[in-house]
Amino acid sequence: MENTAFIALGSNIGNRYDNLMSAIKHLVDYSQIELVNYSSIYETDPVGYEDQDLFLNMVIEIQTTFSAIELLDVCLKTELELGRKREIKWGPRTIDLDILLYNQENIETEKLIVPHPRMIERAFVMIPLLETNRDISIPEMEKPLAAWLNAIPDKEGVRIWKQKNGEDVFEPIES
Ligand code: ADP
Ligand code: MG
Repeated sequence: MENTAFIALGSNIGNRYDNLMSAIKHLVDYSQIELVNYSSIYETDPVGYEDQDLFLNMVIEIQTTFSAIELLDVCLKTELELGRKREIKWGPRTIDLDILLYNQENIETEKLIVPHPRMIERAFVMIPLLETNRDISIPEMEKPLAAWLNAIPDKEGVRIWKQKNGEDVFEPIES
């Protein structure tokens, strides 16, 4: 599978852990998507609208034969499939799937902007992203992303919730 993408997942409604895991399952159910790496799960204070519940956030790395637009459509479809089951009113997210990076491409269309705008300022994205790959870089930035980590505010709002490695491990897909 020729393309590498990083996707940020977030949930703050219902069983947040189950929501993350079922989103991953929905994605890897496509033969065009292969999970290659994933971060620990972090519990994070809401940013922006603070009057809502704490989030669980994580990042996955996939390989895919989907184009970036096809991948976006799959992400949006997965959000609907998971989100519409319980929600009546619009509100905080059952699941949010954001494409952070797609190869080293710069994409700017009405529907899709990659690298994801503002990802670099968001501790709840950058901390799990850098956990998946410390050397990650993004198009048109010479320094690796890790060089920006010190400058990111609100890092204390991002706390490990379930470690990828260690005593409290989890596996998105049963092997
Ligand atoms: P947010 O993630 O900012 O809270 P939404 O999840 O509601 O907002 O997404 C709104 C729209 O953002 C989507 O319908 C999609 O077309 C657009 N979008 C633009 N760039 C991206 C991206 N890189 N990943 C996911 N969605 C994106
Ligand atoms: Mg989104």
